[in-house]
Amino acid sequence: WFITIEGGEGAGKTSLFEKLAHKLQEAGRSVMLTREPGGIPIAEKIRSVILDREHVEMDARTEALLYAASRRQHLVEKVIPALQRGEVVLCDRFVDSSLAYQGHARGIGMDEIWSINHFAINNVMPDLTIYMDISPEVGLRRIQESEEREINRLDLEKMTFHERVREGYKILLKRYPERIVEVNAERSKEEVYHEVLRLLEARLEG
Ligand code: C5P
Ligand code: MG
Repeated sequence: WFITIEGGEGAGKTSLFEKLAHKLQEAGRSVMLTREPGGIPIAEKIRSVILDREHVEMDARTEALLYAASRRQHLVEKVIPALQRGEVVLCDRFVDSSLAYQGHARGIGMDEIWSINHFAINNVMPDLTIYMDISPEVGLRRIQESEEREINRLDLEKMTFHERVREGYKILLKRYPERIVEVNAERSKEEVYHEVLRLLEARLEG
């Protein structure tokens, strides 16, 4: 099982997947929790090239190619072997992030982003994607309150950008209704956790 989680910043993706991974492991399943961009040394290096930019504004297509490159390496080195061992792979972000952020919000176009990712992914797609829906205002407030984030890009990017990211995800929901499930992430962490846990258990057993 290849399961991904998606959404804007402050939606609680990372902590939710950490909790779920723990819970599923306790229930006796082999679970591998990983993230994008990153999860392995080469991809973590690419992540820092993309995210640790203080002075230079990176070209949007360069950025998109770097995300696709790190995705490729992460898949080959980590995700595919785990799937072959029969593990449940929980991945924090995947191709939908590129489609929503670089394709829609940055304006490159989802079809262009899909074409380089089609090359990178080579037909490995998630069985299920959890989309954590949250308004940018609520997400930003949560981030400021928690200080959880490692890189402060949200401060550099405008609210309208995050509105566009959300719009991008809404387009993807319409395009892939069987694969992507929308979860209202503005509710309490407990409510969201229990809903997604039920959802995963139903899929993993069914
Ligand atoms: O997953 P996480 O929230 O840690 O993402 C780190 C940063 O990478 C975020 O600021 C997000 O906006 C950015 N990102 C992006 N395009 C992607 C994936 C992530 O701009 N395709
Ligand atoms: Mg996160």
